[in-house]
Amino acid sequence: MQIEKEEMNQFNVHLASHYGMCFGVRDALAATRKAYDENDVTVLGQLVHNPLVSKELTENGIREGDLDDSLMDVSGTVIITAHGVSGTDRSRWESPHRKVIDTTCPLVNKAHAALSSLIDLGFFPVVIGKKGHAEVNGLTGDYPQAIVIEREEDISDVPHEGKVGVVSQTTQPIERVNELVEKIRSLRSACEVRFIDTVCSPTKNRQRAVKDLAEICDLIVVVGGSNSNNTSELVSAVEQLGVRAIQIERPEDLMLDWFLGAKNVGVTAGTSTLNQTVLGVSDRLREMSKELMLKDRNLNGKEEILC
Ligand code: SF4
Repeated sequence: MQIEKEEMNQFNVHLASHYGMCFGVRDALAATRKAYDENDVTVLGQLVHNPLVSKELTENGIREGDLDDSLMDVSGTVIITAHGVSGTDRSRWESPHRKVIDTTCPLVNKAHAALSSLIDLGFFPVVIGKKGHAEVNGLTGDYPQAIVIEREEDISDVPHEGKVGVVSQTTQPIERVNELVEKIRSLRSACEVRFIDTVCSPTKNRQRAVKDLAEICDLIVVVGGSNSNNTSELVSAVEQLGVRAIQIERPEDLMLDWFLGAKNVGVTAGTSTLNQTVLGVSDRLREMSKELMLKDRNLNGKEEILC
């Protein structure tokens, strides 16, 4: 007896081996949560590029300020985010009348130290990263001569001779950083170019894990805020690997129709995404897979048994 089944519209769900909130963001969030009982707390910028976390902070009375705010308007406790700040901004905010909680990630501090060591050795400062991003502003804030390279065209601003010292924003894709460094070396062959790799290991692990997922999945869901840089980087990485990417912020954003015909669906998340949100998305996807299978069964009627 042979049982012939109609092809079911069920899919497998694969969670990336590394995903979601990194230790730097997690520690910054934990330090901020400890300040929920204090009055008058202001985060200098966006603590985490994640709307769910922003909502939680607002509900607990934490204000969002700006590094450039007038110091006169901000009292009480101020929180420096995991993205870090320049030395100039840090000293501007330090005051005996204000408590400063510094949640700068140690790996961002490492990038600051790398850039400053290059400058001390006489290298011209170059940062590969996103122009205007909080971390990049923090890295370059003490060095008005510094150049930010976001794309190849920006290399035209790099000096034609002398020593050029390059670091990177911690969340940049390492392959792109390496390509840009090689491009600087070839376009500025008269310069001594020294590169210190400051892309952080959680970012590298997540980028490697997304490649592994892309090998087995026909669709990858990237969970993270629409204004999160590393979430957008993951979306681009998936698309460059030739796999369809869907970016969502929460399980409720998932639509059943997106998964029609999918066999293997991957899930990953940016470093600002709460792990409970990612697990909620995986659970919802598993439910959807079952819903699609049941829908197929209802459409196709009973399985046909051929003798
Ligand atoms: S992404 Fe990397 S550098 Fe940024 S907070 Fe997380 S661990 Fe730190």
